[in-house]
Amino acid sequence: MAAAKKDIRALNLEELQEFFVAQGDKAFRAKQVYQWLWNKGIHDFEGMTNLSKSTRALLEEHFIINHIAVDQQQRSEDGTIKNAVQLFDGRIVESVLIPVKDRTTACVSSQVGCSLDCRFCATAKLARMRNLNPDEIFDQVVAIDQQSKAYFDRPLSNIVFMGMGEPLMNYNNVLAAIEKITSPVALGMSPRRITLSTSGIPKLIKKMADDNVQFNLAVSLHAAIQSTRENIMPFAVKFPLDELLLSLQYWYEKTGKIVTFEYVVWKGINDDMEHIRALVNYCKKVPSKVNLIEYNAIGEEQFQQAAPQIIDQYIEYLTAAHITATVRRSRGKDIDAACGQLANKNQQNTT
Ligand code: SAH
Repeated sequence: MAAAKKDIRALNLEELQEFFVAQGDKAFRAKQVYQWLWNKGIHDFEGMTNLSKSTRALLEEHFIINHIAVDQQQRSEDGTIKNAVQLFDGRIVESVLIPVKDRTTACVSSQVGCSLDCRFCATAKLARMRNLNPDEIFDQVVAIDQQSKAYFDRPLSNIVFMGMGEPLMNYNNVLAAIEKITSPVALGMSPRRITLSTSGIPKLIKKMADDNVQFNLAVSLHAAIQSTRENIMPFAVKFPLDELLLSLQYWYEKTGKIVTFEYVVWKGINDDMEHIRALVNYCKKVPSKVNLIEYNAIGEEQFQQAAPQIIDQYIEYLTAAHITATVRRSRGKDIDAACGQLANKNQQNTT
C-alpha cells in the first residue's frame, strides 16, 4: 500500500526546498509552491499554473492540500456573518465576519471546542476535541477576507482570536498561523491589526513576550477579585490574579504594548463598588485599558447582564483613574455569533 500522502502545508519552506532537491529539482520551486499555498491560497496543484505538468504531477503523487470548507453561512440583521467551517476530518468550528463602519474584523477559532470551563461561555460546554492546525486557522482568515471583498467591497482589516478555543492552549499552531498571516511572502497583514484574546495563562503570556510577538493582547479578566474569578472561571484557581499581573507587567516591559482587559458585568456577581475598586486598582498596576463587553445570554440562569447604571459607574471610576474604558456592543446576536455564543448550534459535533 502506498504511504499516506502528507499535507503539504505541514511543511515549512526549508522542508519544501529539501523535497525538491531530493527529487533532483531546483530549490526555487519551493518558493513558487509556497506562494501558491500561502499567498494565493490555492487548494489544488492543478491551479499552480507556473509549474510544469510533471512538477504538478510529482506534487500530486506525494502530497494533499487539506483545507477548510465553509459548510454553512448565516447572516445577521446587522451584517455579521457566521461561518460553520468544516475541517478536513469533518469536525466543525465557527468563525465570524464582523463589519464595523469601514472596517471588517475576522473572529477566528483556534480549537475545536475548548478545554477551559468559563461558566458563562457556550463554547466551554463543548469538550476540547483537538487543536486547529496552522493552515486551518489561516484558511478561516482567507475565507473571511474573500467574503469581505464579495459582500463589502473591501479586504479584511482586523483579526481577533476570540472564536472557539483558548489560543494559548494551542500556542505553536496559533503563532505559526500568525506568522503566515503576517509574513510579507504570505498574506502580509500587519500584526498590529491582530489581537489574541486569552483567559490569562501567565506562563504563556511570558513566553509570548519572550518570543517577541508583534500582535496585541487581550485578557478576559471579568473580575479582579480572585474568589469571584474562580467562581465564574474555575480553572483560574491555577492562575491566580497576582501571577497574571506579574506576567502582564513582564509583557509590557518586553513589548511596550498595553493590555486590554475584557470584562462583562453581571447582576449579583461583580456589579458592586468592591469589584469596581478592585478593577481600578488592578489596572493601575499595569498599563491597560478596559473593554466592557455586553453579556450574551447562553441560557444560564445565574448570569444576567447588570443594570446600565453599573456599567456607567465602572466607566466613571476607571476614567477618573485615567484608564480608558470602552463598551463593546454585541454583534450577530440573532444568529448566535456574538462573544461566547459559538457552540456549533446547527451542527452535530459530538464524535
Ligand atoms: N479563550 C479566549 C478567547 C475566546 S472568548 C478568551 O477567553 O479570551 C472571547 C471573549 O468572549 C472572552 O473575553 C470571553 O470571556 C468572552 N465571553 C465568553 N462568553 C461570553 C458571553 N456569554 N457573553 C459575552 N462575552 C463572553
